[in-house]
Order: sequence, then C-alpha cells, then structure tokens
Amino acid sequence: MNIPEKSKNVIMNTYARYPIALVKGQGSYVFDEDGNKYLDFISGISVNNLGHCHPDIVAAVQNQAASMLHCSNLFWSEPQLNLAEKLVAKSGLGKVFFANSGAEANEGAIKLARKYFFDQGKESKNTIITMDKSFHGRTLATLTATGQDKVKVGFSPLMPGFKYVPFNDFAALKKAITPDVAGIMLEPVQGEGGVHPGDGEYLKKVRTLCDEKEILLIFDEIQCGLGRCGALFCYENYGVLPDIVTLAKALGGGIPMGAFIATDKVAASFGNGTHGSTFGGNPIAAAAGNQYLTILEKENIIDNVKIMSKYLQEKLKKIPSTKIVDVRGMGLLIGIEVSCGSGSIVQCCFNNGLLVLAAGADVVRLLPPLNCTKTQIDEAVKILEKAIMEDE
Ligand code: PLP
Repeated sequence: MNIPEKSKNVIMNTYARYPIALVKGQGSYVFDEDGNKYLDFISGISVNNLGHCHPDIVAAVQNQAASMLHCSNLFWSEPQLNLAEKLVAKSGLGKVFFANSGAEANEGAIKLARKYFFDQGKESKNTIITMDKSFHGRTLATLTATGQDKVKVGFSPLMPGFKYVPFNDFAALKKAITPDVAGIMLEPVQGEGGVHPGDGEYLKKVRTLCDEKEILLIFDEIQCGLGRCGALFCYENYGVLPDIVTLAKALGGGIPMGAFIATDKVAASFGNGTHGSTFGGNPIAAAAGNQYLTILEKENIIDNVKIMSKYLQEKLKKIPSTKIVDVRGMGLLIGIEVSCGSGSIVQCCFNNGLLVLAAGADVVRLLPPLNCTKTQIDEAVKILEKAIMEDE
C-alpha cells in the first residue's frame, strides 16, 4: 500500500509532508509503513512529549474509552475536574476553559479579553497587540493575531482589532499602547517563528506595563508550555504570571485538547452561554492529560529536560561548522540557526533516520521527547553533524 501517493488524491494538500506514512511509535522512535525506523526529535510538534505510547497514557485512554467516550458539556465529568484541579493548582491562576486545539484556545482567550472589558462598559477597549514572528493558529482571528504575513495571504478581509510590534523591544511596545488595547499576547519562547526566547527583563516590564495600563497579559504556551522549556509553565522560568495562559499540543497526552486558564477575576466574564465547545474537555483527552501531568512528576521529567537541554546545547555548539550562526532555545525547544537554509539539513537528517523540523527558512528546530536520553541525543547530534557538515 502506498499511503502517501493514494492520500494525495483524497486529502487537501495543505502540508509539506515527508514522503512516508507513519504506522507505529514506540518511545523516542517511529516506524513507517515499510518498517523503517526513525529517531523522532519532532514529537508530533511537541505533542508526544513523553515519546510514543507511554504505557500509562495508553492505559488511561483504554480505561476511559471503556467507560465513556464523550460526555456533553451539559454535564460535569470527573476527568475534566481532575485535570482542571491540577492545572489551577500549578498555574497560580483561577479557572480553566477546555477547547480542542491551540487555535481554539487562543481564539477563546482573545474573546475573553474583549468580554472582560465589555463587562466593565469599555467596549472600545478591544485591540490585541501581538509580536512580529509570532504564531497563534490558523483560524481567522488567530491567523490575524499571528505576526507572520505568510499565513495571511489570500484570507482577507482579516479580523479587525490587532496590531503588531517587534518581540523583545519594550520601547516599541510602549509606543503602541493606546486606550483601546485590551491585551498583549505573546509566546514566552517563540516556536514557529524561529525559536526566539523572550528576554527576562522585557517580560517583567511587559507585566508591569499591563498592570499600569489595565491590559491583560496573555501567554501562548501552546508550544513552549507543559514542561517543554524546563518548567511546567514556561512563565515560571521568568517569574512573570500572565492573566491568561493558553495551552494545547501536549495537554491531552497525544489526544487533541486545548485550554486556557485565567485569573478568577477575568474568568468571571465567561458566564453561562458566553462561550462553548461540543468536544472541549473530552473525557479521553482529559484522562490522558491527567496521566501526562502525573507522569511528569512521577518520572521527574522536568529535571530530565534541564539536564538534556544543557547536554544537547553543549554538543550542538561543538559542531565545527561555519554554517551554524546560533544555537538557542530553552529546555528542549532548541533552534539551530544556519546560514545555508534549514530545508536541506532537515532533508538530510530524514535520509539518515532522524526527524527534525524547520522553524522558518534558516532555523532547524529540535523538539525531542522530554524523557529522551543522552544516548538518543548522541545519536541525533551525530546525524545532525553529518547533515550540517555536508559540503563544508
Ligand atoms: N500557538 C502556538 C505557539 C503554536 O505553536 C501553535 C501550533 O503550532 C498554535 C498556537 C496553533 O495550535 P493548533 O495547531 O493546535 O491550532
């Protein structure tokens, strides 16, 4: 069976896909339909953060599936409660709304920010400032929020109520503040836009500015959150608490799930009938997500992220290539900026059994499983080094 070729006839061609179909995942490795094995340093773009098919997550999914597959939000459900209790306790925020994806989580956060000021009689305070090179999703509001023109081409008219500033530039941000600004939304570490960590002093100043000007600070931690950057919430690394944080990707332990968590004060603006989702908080996703958070603690995963991050970055910095412009990132969200274009390196890695991805034209992005080992990092860096050194 040739899955890629047959699929092209019946599935829209929206993704630049690798020419293989994956059929099985096991820990840090995946297998294609011909039985080829790959070391997976993409992790489903930071979804399979514990590698593939962690037995405790598989068991949680199986157990939940046997008792209830879907529970309408007309009813309460225990898996949602358990996950929400954990998220609230660990985030320092007040209440959760469950969605199904990252774009939906961001869309909901934007709606909540607008509704919060509407409820105060400030309907015209509705603009959201986002950052150049940011990525917030593909729905109309979230692609408008995204600070990269390439995702917007062909989709006009875009949503009103957004403006953009360069990331990590406090003077530019301050200049953009007008009375209509309701929220500042940013990724503490930008992922898709080229792996750019936020500056610590900058984020602290943004928090103060938001407090002074009565603006909600929204952190999009869809890629950088949930342990990826060496803390459960990336903002813990900065000591800066947002008013709203958005999550997705790893949240459902591999099952689709998104969420946003807000302070009690802000969350109060989402009363009965203001927002909703048929599938949001699906019990299987919630049960798997619960298990994900349990394993993070039980297996000391965040300690492993810190150790492996240092090990990986040190090894990458030792690659003797003039093509490497920069190695940067946080935790296990790592970017290698290269002068030769990221595409050929990603391709060469693939040819040699390593899955990595690009973050723009010049950055090779590594998203290894958070429980990866030094041996796997050695294996990956050997292949990366070969790919980067080719034609040196
Ligand atoms: N926000 C960030 C930071 C992301 O990295 C992504 C996806 O890559 C999204 C939002 C959109 O998430 P989804 O694809 O689940 O809609």
